[in-house]
Amino acid sequence: MAELDPRSLIFVSGLLGLMCSAILFMLRGSFPLSIGGLRNWAWGLLCMVIASGMYGLTGSVPSFFPNVGGNVLLVGGIMLVYAGFVRFLKRRPRVRLLAVTLAAVFAFCAWFTYVRPSYPLRALLVTSVDTCLFLACAALILKTSAGSFSGRFTGLVFVAIGTISAARVAMLLLQLDTPDSVMGPTPGQKFYLVAIAFAILAITLGAIMMANERLRAELEFIASHDQLTGAYARGAFIEQLQTELCRSERSGRPPALLMFDLDHFKTVNDRFGHAVGDKVITDFVRRTRELLRGHDMLGRYGGEEFVALLPETTREEACKVAERICHGIAVHVSMELPRYTVSIGVAGAEAADATVDALLFAADRALYAAKADGRNCVRGDPGQAATPRETASG
Ligand code: GH3
Ligand code: MG
Ligand code: MG
Repeated sequence: MAELDPRSLIFVSGLLGLMCSAILFMLRGSFPLSIGGLRNWAWGLLCMVIASGMYGLTGSVPSFFPNVGGNVLLVGGIMLVYAGFVRFLKRRPRVRLLAVTLAAVFAFCAWFTYVRPSYPLRALLVTSVDTCLFLACAALILKTSAGSFSGRFTGLVFVAIGTISAARVAMLLLQLDTPDSVMGPTPGQKFYLVAIAFAILAITLGAIMMANERLRAELEFIASHDQLTGAYARGAFIEQLQTELCRSERSGRPPALLMFDLDHFKTVNDRFGHAVGDKVITDFVRRTRELLRGHDMLGRYGGEEFVALLPETTREEACKVAERICHGIAVHVSMELPRYTVSIGVAGAEAADATVDALLFAADRALYAAKADGRNCVRGDPGQAATPRETASG
């Protein structure tokens, strides 16, 4: 490290930043608009690249460029990276606060260049703002990315670079490291420049990993959920049901299944139009979710037919839940929607040999009975009452 001069380090971090910025600009188009932040990250890194170019020209260009322009671009670049993470997390950056801070950085850098020229004071000011931004990024990411490797990685990179920046602030304050310009070859200055170069690379990697993780989660959600209502899609629901049946074989606490069909739905469509029909379906899912328990799962079986999986629930308990939903749905709550009702079939998986197909068949048969009994009611599968569960122990 002793042989490395600050100009080479600034050149290397500039090149790294340029490469990372180009990658982010190119990747931007392959991510959906729902994944925000990539544009901010790319522009942020580009600003930092231009800043490092200005620092590198210290001595060869008027002092405004490295002392004021370079510092403002560096802080602005880090602000853009921060704003990118805020957007990525679907929040709004506090643009006014950032703009006022940047204007203050501009004013102070100009003051410490022309009125009271001092590199250490400029470095102190800029590094303090950078530290706050790095630590703000760390807090934001770590708070919102529990359980995600990419989030933890990126958050910890920000913790590391924030801590190094804070240490630099302390060294400048205590005059333990006293570079006289950005090119001052002091150990503290060189260490800081190396850390920034590594941070640029690690933050870009972390940001790309976070964006990929989000993309995968969004694609998985689209594949496993119904677009209109957000309920589980049929295939994903059946997978969940299969998993729950296997799990219940071990626990000895079987699940129950509810099957719903909205009553006279063709009439709703015919009288009010398909768009209102869609709203009724969405309303049904929202209200049914509220009436189910947190760990129950609701799926769209097809059209206006839905299924709910109630883990560890007896057929009798499931009937009570179904009654609650049936009554709740029949209450007319929205003036924008017509009154509608639902019929519900209930099946329990108490039989030792309960399979997905048998359970769906039983719930369907119960639903058919509910329809036959006049609709807007709940029926348990009549065939099941006579087949008490043989416990797993036999
Ligand atoms: P029943 O009480 O016997 O269930 O009578 P029904 O009129 O509801 O009969 P059925 O369940 O067979 O009707 C389903 C209707 O639901 C037919 C179809 O046009 C409508 N439908 C299915 N999917 C959608 C959808 O996504 N949106 C809207 N608006 N209508 C749908
Ligand atoms: Mg139907
Ligand atoms: Mg129907």
